[in-house]
Amino acid sequence: MYWKPNICKLHKPCIRNIIFDLGNTLVYFDFSYFYNGIAEREKKLSGLKFKKYIYDNKLDVKLMTGRMSHREFFRKVKKKFDLKIGYGDFMFFYADIFWANQNMKRFLEKISRIKKYKLFLLSNTDSVHITFIDNNFPFVRLLKKRVLSYKVNMIKPHKKLFKYTLEKFHLKPEETVLVDDMKDNIISAQALGIKTIHYNLHKKFTSEFSRLVKGIS
Ligand SMILES: [Mg+2]
Repeated sequence: MYWKPNICKLHKPCIRNIIFDLGNTLVYFDFSYFYNGIAEREKKLSGLKFKKYIYDNKLDVKLMTGRMSHREFFRKVKKKFDLKIGYGDFMFFYADIFWANQNMKRFLEKISRIKKYKLFLLSNTDSVHITFIDNNFPFVRLLKKRVLSYKVNMIKPHKKLFKYTLEKFHLKPEETVLVDDMKDNIISAQALGIKTIHYNLHKKFTSEFSRLVKGIS
């Protein structure tokens, strides 16, 4: 089989690997669907108080780093707010907070077809959210090589997670680009020599991406 390698010129970056962030890059999300959904079901509950309790107690971080199970999470908030809702319904509200970024869906489908780059997913997420996303947004399944925070007990923007990702897949930072919407993640990745694109407007992303792979930037 004929294999056409990337042409890498001296002193020019040669991108072989693309690491995608998930939330607000490949899929958008809004946690208020969860807080408000539960609050609407539980008449006495304030969505804001519910949200504050979760953040003050870092329950979101505990879920993302795999330090707390969803059962424990449910038991804790159920007790605290005297919730009537059952676990299944509660988890449905918890999971159903995402919608696809159609522009990124098209980009990812195209770039995985041309097979020029190795593609990765690096996400702060938990088992319930990633399962929901894989089931409802099948284009995300194109990214089979993954580092997920809840499995490795580390989260972005900690540099050790980026280091771990490079080492796990034997990636050279200078041949790798991170696409992520969070500035802190961009800063950490840059400190390790990884190329970065701060994702916000899709048009800006595609132009930065083509400049980067052509070695213009
Ligand atoms: Mg993100």
